[in-house]
Amino acid sequence: MMNNGVDGMTILDTVIVGAGQAGLGVSYYLHRDRRQQVVLERGRIGESWLAQRWDSFKLNTPNFMNALPGFPYKGPDPDGFWRQDELVHYFQQYVEYFQLPVRTGIMVVSVERAMDESHFIVTTRVDGQEEEFVLSRSVVIAAGIQHTPRIPPHHSLIPDTITQMHTASYRSAAELPPGAVVVANPLDEQMDPDLHERVLRDGLAAATVEGISGRDVTPFLLERFHTHTDGESLRANVRLVLRNAALAAEIAAA
Ligand SMILES: Cc1cc2nc3c(=O)[nH]c(=O)nc-3n(C[C@H](O)[C@H](O)[C@H](O)COP(=O)(O)OP(=O)(O)OC[C@H]3O[C@@H](n4cnc5c(N)ncnc54)[C@H](O)[C@@H]3O)c2cc1C
Repeated sequence: MMNNGVDGMTILDTVIVGAGQAGLGVSYYLHRDRRQQVVLERGRIGESWLAQRWDSFKLNTPNFMNALPGFPYKGPDPDGFWRQDELVHYFQQYVEYFQLPVRTGIMVVSVERAMDESHFIVTTRVDGQEEEFVLSRSVVIAAGIQHTPRIPPHHSLIPDTITQMHTASYRSAAELPPGAVVVANPLDEQMDPDLHERVLRDGLAAATVEGISGRDVTPFLLERFHTHTDGESLRANVRLVLRNAALAAEIAAA
C-alpha cells in the first residue's frame, strides 16, 4: 500500500481532488454506483472552511440548505446557521456514514495523460516524502476556486500606518489595532481597468478645460463614466451596491 492509500498498479475509475462539498458530493454518487475511487485532500476534510474562515464566522445559508446528496439535515435547527466547525463535523459524518474513501494530507501535484491515453497518472505528495502515483480512468478536479486572495494593486498606495488584512487571513477582532475599521468589498467582475483609467484621465482633463472644480467634479465624472463606458460603470456600481448591502447584512448578523 502506498501512502496515498492506493496500490500504484490498480487503475481506479476516478480520482477526486479535494474533499470540500463538491468532491464529497461526487464521491457519494460514485460510491452509490460502486465505482473504484479515491478522494485526495491536501489538508483536512473541509479544509477551506477550517483554514479560511474567522472565529466568529457563521454560514449565511441556513442549515437545511447545506445538506449534501443523500444526507439531509436532521438536527433541531433547520433554519439556524452553522459555524464552520459544525459544517465540517457534518462533512465528517457524511464520510463516515457512507464510508467514502477520503485520504487527507495528500497534495495532488500533477495530472497527466498516460502515453496510450487509456488513463491518467495523478502524482501526489505528502510533506517530506517522495512523490507517489495513482492511476485512474478519470479525474474530477474539485479543488475549489477561492484559494488565492485577490488584492487590488492600488493597496500599495495606502500608507503603512494603516493595517491591511485580507479576509483569508483575518481570524478575530482581537488582531486589529485600536481605531476605526474600513471593510473593502471589491467586485469579482470589475470594469476593464484600462478603460477605467482612460475615462478617468480624460474626464479629469476635460473637467480642467471646462473649469469644473470642487464638489462638481464627482457628478461630472460619474456622468462621463456612464456615457463613455456604454453604461458599464453604472452596471458595476449597481452590482457594488447590492454586494455591499449583502455584506452589511452579514456583518450585522455576525
Ligand atoms: C468567506 C466565505 C464565506 C462563504 N459562506 C458560504 C455560505 O455561508 N454558504 C455557502 O453555501 N457557501 C459559502 N461560501 C462558498 C463556499 O465556501 C464554496 O462554494 C464551497 O467551499 C465550494 O466547495 P468546493 O468543494 O468546490 O471547494 P472547497 O470547499 O474550496 O474545497 C476544495 C478542497 O480541495 C482541496 N485542494 C485544493 N487543491 C488541492 C490539491 N492540489 N490536492 C489536494 N487537495 C486540494 C482544498 O484543500 C479543499 O479542501 C463562502 C465562501 C467564502 C470565501
